Amino acid sequence: MLEDVQIERYSRQIILPQVGGKGQEKILQGQVYVDGDGLLAAAALFYLVAAGVGTIGVARAKAAQIFSVLAEQSLGPDEQPVAHVLRRLNPDCTIVTHPNEDEQPPHHYDLVLATTDALHDGWYAQHKPFVWGAASGENARLFVSRGDRAARPCLRCLFSGAGGPLDSPARGKEETYPASADRGRAYFLFSPYAFFLGTQLVTEALKIILQPEAESPPKLLAYTFPAFHCTEQVVEKNPHCSVCSTPAHD
Ligand SMILES: [Zn+2]
Repeated sequence: MLEDVQIERYSRQIILPQVGGKGQEKILQGQVYVDGDGLLAAAALFYLVAAGVGTIGVARAKAAQIFSVLAEQSLGPDEQPVAHVLRRLNPDCTIVTHPNEDEQPPHHYDLVLATTDALHDGWYAQHKPFVWGAASGENARLFVSRGDRAARPCLRCLFSGAGGPLDSPARGKEETYPASADRGRAYFLFSPYAFFLGTQLVTEALKIILQPEAESPPKLLAYTFPAFHCTEQVVEKNPHCSVCSTPAHD
């Protein structure tokens, strides 16, 4: 049951027929693990908190840089900058920092939202959704891999050579915008591309939390900036995919 202060806080979401009061309660009970340390991950974290996702997990070492800048004036000696900043934005959200960035997130998370493919294969094996976004230079891409839907293609199908629409990245390599060497305070706060894609990633995460059973075609969304050109490509399942075509997922 929403409290009056929550009804006021989330009123712009609650009035949406796709959300409503019941949907907002689902969001408040939602649990999302965010993997990434670039602008995209930071933007996604901000919008997850703004939406009121109840539990948000992050690896201790990741996203530290941007949040350290935002928290540098008031951070206590033992406090994690990510948790410090986000908790102040919305007290409804619990920010959980996990010590090991290479470990699979605990199974209780509803989904992983990531800007790298590093955790995908292990998370897919747990039959859970994986919302992936990446940005590099002028290009950004978004794909939802549904480990809970065996018939759908997974993120690895995108990178699987013949028939796959994307070149294979270095395993676990994160694509960031802008390049790491160029990160600075102005980029942290004012990169509209990252914040745009961040909202898209969070929208996909909220759709899963609100209606996990809803069907949607497996599409790769590709954006080109600053022209803001967007294309959709239906992704086919690779019958030889090493991740989603194993016997456990047939
Ligand atoms: Zn696959």
